[in-house]
Amino acid sequence: MNIIKKGWQFVSDFLGFRRNDKYVSKYLNDANIRSSIYMSFIVISIEIWMIIRQFNKYIIPGWDKYASMGGNLTLGYRLETIFNNTSFYLLFIMCSLALFVYAITYINKSFKKPVFILNLVLGGLCIFWIFLLIPQQINYEKVTDAICIIALYSVLPFLGITIVLDSLYRYKYKKNNTILSVLVIIWFSLVCLLFGVKVGYSDFISRATDSNYHPDMWKMITCFLTMVLFVGCLLIWKPWISVLMLTSIFIAFQLMIEKSGTLRELQDGDKVNYITFLIALTIIAVSIYKQRLNDATKAKRLEHDSVYDALCDIHNIKFLTDNVINYQQTNQKEIENKLYLFLNIVNFRTINDQKSFEEGNEFLIKLAKLVEESFPNDYVSRQGDDHFVVFADERTFMTSIDTLDELLKDLSKGMFLQLKVGGYKPMPFEEPNRAIDKARYACGVIKRQYSVKYLEYDEKMDQAFHKKQYIINHLDEAIENDWIRPFYQPVVWSRNKELCGAEALARWIDPNYGFLSPGDFIPILEETRLIHKLDAHIINCVCKHMRQALDKKRKVVPVSINFSRLDFELMDAVSILKESLKKYNIPKEFIHVEITESALSENGELLTKAFNELKEDNFAIWLDDFGSGYSSLNVLKDFKFDVVKIDMKFLSNFDSNEKSKDILDCIIQLANRLGMRTLTEGVETNNQSNFLEEIGCDRLQGYLFGKPYRLEDFEQLVDDEEFIVSSEII
Ligand code: C2E
Ligand code: CA
Ligand code: CA
Repeated sequence: MNIIKKGWQFVSDFLGFRRNDKYVSKYLNDANIRSSIYMSFIVISIEIWMIIRQFNKYIIPGWDKYASMGGNLTLGYRLETIFNNTSFYLLFIMCSLALFVYAITYINKSFKKPVFILNLVLGGLCIFWIFLLIPQQINYEKVTDAICIIALYSVLPFLGITIVLDSLYRYKYKKNNTILSVLVIIWFSLVCLLFGVKVGYSDFISRATDSNYHPDMWKMITCFLTMVLFVGCLLIWKPWISVLMLTSIFIAFQLMIEKSGTLRELQDGDKVNYITFLIALTIIAVSIYKQRLNDATKAKRLEHDSVYDALCDIHNIKFLTDNVINYQQTNQKEIENKLYLFLNIVNFRTINDQKSFEEGNEFLIKLAKLVEESFPNDYVSRQGDDHFVVFADERTFMTSIDTLDELLKDLSKGMFLQLKVGGYKPMPFEEPNRAIDKARYACGVIKRQYSVKYLEYDEKMDQAFHKKQYIINHLDEAIENDWIRPFYQPVVWSRNKELCGAEALARWIDPNYGFLSPGDFIPILEETRLIHKLDAHIINCVCKHMRQALDKKRKVVPVSINFSRLDFELMDAVSILKESLKKYNIPKEFIHVEITESALSENGELLTKAFNELKEDNFAIWLDDFGSGYSSLNVLKDFKFDVVKIDMKFLSNFDSNEKSKDILDCIIQLANRLGMRTLTEGVETNNQSNFLEEIGCDRLQGYLFGKPYRLEDFEQLVDDEEFIVSSEII
């Protein structure tokens, strides 16, 4: 039983009984059309050669040899003879040319006007050419000959009509039509076969009736077989079709010869050759099919991978942008109703954090299907992470968003996830990736607005968006031209308010935008992972300024430099700092490294390593923004800082809130117990300053003592003794 089953499986595999899917069928058909380019080219070459032979025979040297056969031949008569003898070849060239042009333009997907006209003309010629030839060609005395010719003449217009229809279709819809292409190939194959039968068979018959002539069967059918070979290679669809077609053609031809009764001696050897040829042809057809099937399956997988998201198996962003570009060209009217949506799930990370990565992935797969379901008539794609992009219809998208929101609520039971959607209506030919960036931007704006689900990109955002693009695109230039440089904010001892340090704070003074503060560019540079470029530049500037001051024998104070969490990921921050110090010959006591507590708690391993390296090299490490995050105490437990910088939010409503005083008091005691010194930022009033001095905070920084100044101003203030440089600066 098993053997029968296996046997059947083998046979059905071999003969290709299984249905191919649409992609594979189209691939095989395209391959057929591709080979028809070569085939038609070969046919054209052979037929031209045949015509040249005729010219050689009747006009060029040796023509008089034939002259004796027909008496004194005039040139006109000879030309007519050539035309009569070659009209079939001309006709065959005609339709091969039509196929040749058709196939090339099909494969290259050219839908331009000249292509349309060329195909139309060649198709039209195939239809009308025959009217010129019918009268001369049909010799009604030879019935089989006449049948062959009439059959050939009746197939030809179909080829012409199909090509004409196809060119009209292509002109109108700007795409290929698979069904018409299959028909073109079939008609052309029939033309080939009938041509083969006509030239091979009927010539054989006509000569066989000549009693002086002993025809060689094998030679006579060569032409026919060549044509069959053409067709065999052209029509590689399913093996069983090839087998059926080839066998029936051979049998029909055999029967025709036998029935005509003119066959003299068909020797056994010829028969063997004949059948061997059939078998060889069948095997060629089958193996080409298998090869193409393999290629098709591979191509399908590759194509699938290139337009589908590997995790969620919905389309990826490339598919969406490619299709939108296509859409822009073909549906210029409809595009007015389209807009881009950028979808983001706020808090998605908690699934990965609280559950597992695998569960996060599973969630995304389900979510992707829901997005597809909610936007059934739009282009939907996953951009990465929990981000999806939809090219949606303006008239329906809001309903789709509501549907998705409901579905998401069901899916995320027990978790606090929120759908956020940014929308952007593109200009007529706007580049898709840029448009998607804008939708994403709008989505980012509502990230932290609890009650807002959807926001469309507007004029105000456009300005901010352009500013953002400007910052990203001009960072290198700004660094190179020193548009970005550190300003210095004084830090004083609380006991005597003498200057004991300064914090380097980046400022970007731009020739187009004017003054940009860190709030404008730091978050953008962090988001785009470019922040390390800025920080490396600030490190270099600080060291350079200090070297210049030392060379001028000025009094200098240590400078604190802000390090972003990403600096330790994107560059070797510790080495870069050390190299700069070495380059300008600055003692390391003059630099304080500021790291925020959130950086330390988020980036465990990398930062711990950097922290230890800095400690080993005896750098002073200051903890920035203490108390602003979630894990302040943990950070204090795990790392030993030289100075804790207490976040300025503890000073907000200082006068009205007694509790904040108690908290500040406790923090300072705690830091002291742990052997760390303290600094409070954002000191703006004498009240605050006095209180902080009372409770033992070591250093103070804030507008009360000075804002961040440009270097020259800072130095001038020191010179003017507005700031007294303390003798104890470390
Ligand atoms: P930060 O490190 O906490 O810097 C202190 C911020 O508070 C500065 O804002 C400073 O101008 C401001 N400030 C100082 N005293 C007072 C005050 O009395 N009252 C008020 N309301 N504010 C005061 P700035 O310069 O705008 O910097 C903002 C943030 O940008 C900085 O916060 C820091 O996190 C980041 N940043 C600045 N420069 C750099 C840099 O070179 N690299 C990196 N990675 N980040 C930087
Ligand atoms: Ca700081
Ligand atoms: Ca701070």
